[in-house]
Amino acid sequence: MGNITDLFTCSRCGGHWIEEIRQNCTSVTVVLGIRDDGSYIYGATTTEGGKPRGYRCMSCRRELRDNRALLITNLSEILKQEKSIESRHET
Ligand SMILES: [Zn+2]
Repeated sequence: MGNITDLFTCSRCGGHWIEEIRQNCTSVTVVLGIRDDGSYIYGATTTEGGKPRGYRCMSCRRELRDNRALLITNLSEILKQEKSIESRHET
């Protein structure tokens, strides 16, 4: 275990950051103010509840899928699989 940037290298673009896509969750955003045109000025957003639908590379938006092309919802599975893709490329 450790930093995701040490553990993950995207096999398409070489990126190191992963985004989590959540479903059935509530997004909660701080409202800081209102502009003259009536639009809101937002601050930090947090999410409540829900569960991960999947993960994707932050750089190229490649969705991380398992051998059966299903979205992976378990990060340790991703890291195992990405390692095996990397080692296949090396041989
Ligand atoms: Zn990528």
